[in-house]
Amino acid sequence: YSSVWTADNVVKSPHRDIEIPNRLVTEHIWEAVERWPDKTALVCATTNRSYTFHDLYKYSRNFAAKLRTQIKIRDGDTVCLMMSNYPEYAIALLGALEAGAEVTTANPIYTPYEVERQIKQAEPKVLVGVPETVPVLKEALRLTKKDIPIIVLRNPDGALPDNTISFQEWFLAENVDHSVLKDVSRTPEDVALLPYSSGTTGLPKGVELTNRNLVANFVQQDVDTMRVHQETTKTHQDVTLGLLPFYHSYGLSVILLHKLSAGLKNVTLSKFQPNTFIDTMKNHKINLLCAAPPLVLFLGSHPGVTADHLTSLKTITCGAAPLPRTDVTRILDKVKHEMDFLQLYGLTEVGPLATCMPPGSKDYSKAGCGISNTELRIVDQDQRVLGPNQLGELHIRGPQVMKGYRNNPEATKAVITEDGWFKTGDLGSLDENGAVTISDRLKELIKVKGYQVPPAELENVLKEHPDVLDAAVLGIPDSRLGEVPKAFVVLKDGVKVEANEVTSFVSERVAEYKRIRDVVFLDALPKNPSGKLLKRVLREQYC
Ligand code: AMP
Repeated sequence: YSSVWTADNVVKSPHRDIEIPNRLVTEHIWEAVERWPDKTALVCATTNRSYTFHDLYKYSRNFAAKLRTQIKIRDGDTVCLMMSNYPEYAIALLGALEAGAEVTTANPIYTPYEVERQIKQAEPKVLVGVPETVPVLKEALRLTKKDIPIIVLRNPDGALPDNTISFQEWFLAENVDHSVLKDVSRTPEDVALLPYSSGTTGLPKGVELTNRNLVANFVQQDVDTMRVHQETTKTHQDVTLGLLPFYHSYGLSVILLHKLSAGLKNVTLSKFQPNTFIDTMKNHKINLLCAAPPLVLFLGSHPGVTADHLTSLKTITCGAAPLPRTDVTRILDKVKHEMDFLQLYGLTEVGPLATCMPPGSKDYSKAGCGISNTELRIVDQDQRVLGPNQLGELHIRGPQVMKGYRNNPEATKAVITEDGWFKTGDLGSLDENGAVTISDRLKELIKVKGYQVPPAELENVLKEHPDVLDAAVLGIPDSRLGEVPKAFVVLKDGVKVEANEVTSFVSERVAEYKRIRDVVFLDALPKNPSGKLLKRVLREQYC
């Protein structure tokens, strides 16, 4: 592989440019349905309940028609999904899109406090959950003082939670009248997905991914020179594992939607339990594992994972956070056959894939080369564009770059230049071949196990504590989780609070991975004369 360095230090993709079909996400997926109607699209690893591509089409259309008639969903309305990784996630997602809606996705382990903010911002017309997320959704609605219907994928043997609508009853209904769907009018430029990301700074923001952004990102992954899956044929179908959460852009776009569009079978796992995971790898003969660093660490270090569990594996892709090289060699040492291990890199804001190491590559330290139609550049503090192997901020330009942050033109302007470059907030370099190395993060974002932990969010929670005057949060390295949040707290005059009171105050309000691991009490936070917090000083002195 070899990307092209242009005279102005822009790096072009080593893969050929491709034409992006002018169609909706649903139209793109329905094409897969037409090609392989009877192949299995999704199967639940724990219950074996499964859906063919044709089922997926039929049930999504049923759900779409019900959304239009029963909830009065109209073009551009928002549907919020707060579901774990079950096969029906795809029905809810594609059904909502088919109904003309935009879909915003919430982490199924969020607290009411976290969901409240997303509901206030995204203003969904309906919520779709699973029994475990219903109490949180209800509490979030109480906090927002909104009355929004909740549709629930009920457990096959469980009761339907009070005041909710059965998802199954809607999508499994017989003789649904689909004629209402003729009124749906969406264009490729319309927003399809609205996942949340804090981006470079501040609180989570709605990321507007249009149909075009997403379809582009799907076909970019299908180019022959970078494809990580085998073509589906009458006699062959690759199998992938839907373990990383579908609410996050990697799970949502790369693992769920793209792999459906490419005709793969997706085996969904709603929870990570070591033995179930290992058994699923073997029993379902997983060929393609889309992983994040903690999963790679687990595969390499857990004694229960042997070559026997991994015999079907042809490719592992790994992204979402920095990957220690030793973790890769550990797993490759276990596997007894030839296979690809490819790092990839991206962000929610770019649909999310920007780079991937080309298949066959043995360089595990690089995060990949630009995918088709994608340009990369490295820029220094003075906005000078740098040459090979020089360190600066990575910028990305391509058809997958988001439309912008929802209702936030200022934040959008801060990250997308007038000529379309997206500023990643990541520090890195590009080698002579155009492969990127990510060295550090310039932005505030902390990543725990690959999940976003925005410091501003934790700082706000800390400042809500009645005895806290001021607070700052930094990420510190952790060998197992990548990073963990550490808090610096200034108490109000004359009060005394223990560190564990502070950490439990935060723990009650945020998902488990965002919990603060360490607290340092200070008399004052270091600030410059205009009052700007100097996190660099905190890092140098206390981390
Ligand atoms: P998200 O929007 O949650 O996907 O987070 C995107 C961020 O994850 C990027 O800006 C990087 O900081 C980080 N990231 C993603 N992939 C990689 C990678 N391969 N190596 C290092 N960091 C990564």
